Amino acid sequence: MSVAMIEEPMTTTVQPRKRVMAMPEYHPPLAARDALRLDFNENTIAPSPRVIARLQRLTSEGLTVYPEREPVERIVAAHFGLGPDQVLLTNGVDEAIHAIACTFLDEGDEALICTPTFFMYDVSIGMMTSQLKRVQSDDSLEFPFERFMAEITPRTKLIIIASPNNPTGATVSREHLLAIAKAAPQAVLLVDEAYFHFHGETTLGDVGNVPNLIVGRTFSKAYGLANLRAGMIAGDARLLRYVRKVVSPYNMNGVALAVLPEALADEAYLEWYVEQVRAGRERVFVALKELGVRTWPSAANFVLMDIGAKHKELCEVMRAHGVLLRDRSADPGCEGYVRITIGVEEQMTRGIASLRTSLAEIGWTPAESVLAQGKSEGEREYE
Ligand code: PMP
Repeated sequence: MSVAMIEEPMTTTVQPRKRVMAMPEYHPPLAARDALRLDFNENTIAPSPRVIARLQRLTSEGLTVYPEREPVERIVAAHFGLGPDQVLLTNGVDEAIHAIACTFLDEGDEALICTPTFFMYDVSIGMMTSQLKRVQSDDSLEFPFERFMAEITPRTKLIIIASPNNPTGATVSREHLLAIAKAAPQAVLLVDEAYFHFHGETTLGDVGNVPNLIVGRTFSKAYGLANLRAGMIAGDARLLRYVRKVVSPYNMNGVALAVLPEALADEAYLEWYVEQVRAGRERVFVALKELGVRTWPSAANFVLMDIGAKHKELCEVMRAHGVLLRDRSADPGCEGYVRITIGVEEQMTRGIASLRTSLAEIGWTPAESVLAQGKSEGEREYE
């Protein structure tokens, strides 16, 4: 055996990049969801009938052809009053987050998010840099604007803010978002508007005027196309040119591309669905207040509830009643919190009835809420 081999043993197994080793894994609990799906913030019923009609016109030969993204990108851009070079269609907003992290972050660059928030930010940023700063909301779960601004440094290269935020439902005003963009001209600000429709306020109109702003929109929520994986980012043409280099030319599948113009055109359907959610959200707030369950204001299609130690039990009993909820206890600052997605009227009638029964079955009282108990800082693990 040579000396060189003793000093430097041959590596016999493949190792990933160090950043990949360090990345957290995201395993959403997707199994056994054949029930009332009040767990993933999807549209809970169906997309526009025009989408289904278009699906039925797809041909078998059409499936053999590589998808062409640009013509649909032009339609989408026109729909939002933007230029085609200001819009990029992506395989869900998930891909957009991933592509933006790959495009703009080098190792050592800082990225900034506010927690609790959508976990894919951690995953995609963690793939590129070890310098992810998380600014934790206090018990109000509101966006901590001043503390967030204070964390911006010349090394900040990417800032991601969801408004409305998931899992809290909290929003960030346009004024605050623009102030953040201005305070960090060397950083991309991605405003994730996945839940825009249930809120109504947007920074899409600032695209082009704010050179470091990118706005994300998904077709998975209000439009009901989560299964097709369709999202978009809108931003300054210069920024999007770089992101376009990073994504595959075939990132969006042709089925999604075919139905997207139909989904966008059917504004009556979208309005109907959004109105169902807004009305359902109010009913859920009223019912939870009656039951003594603490909640936070939500501008999204879900409501976060403070259940306390019996969070898991509640989710299990609800599942036995055929209604799925999402336990958010693993999110930072959310121990004991459970999220309920809002669907259409009859679903919410059933969801609220099941909540009443289930809380009674587990013997829950308002005194059990986390805040009533004083918060515990137990070990957290991400899903
Ligand atoms: N952003 C936020 C804030 C979300 O909650 C979600 C879905 N859970 C996404 C993005 C992902 O959307 P898509 O299905 O388009 O990948």
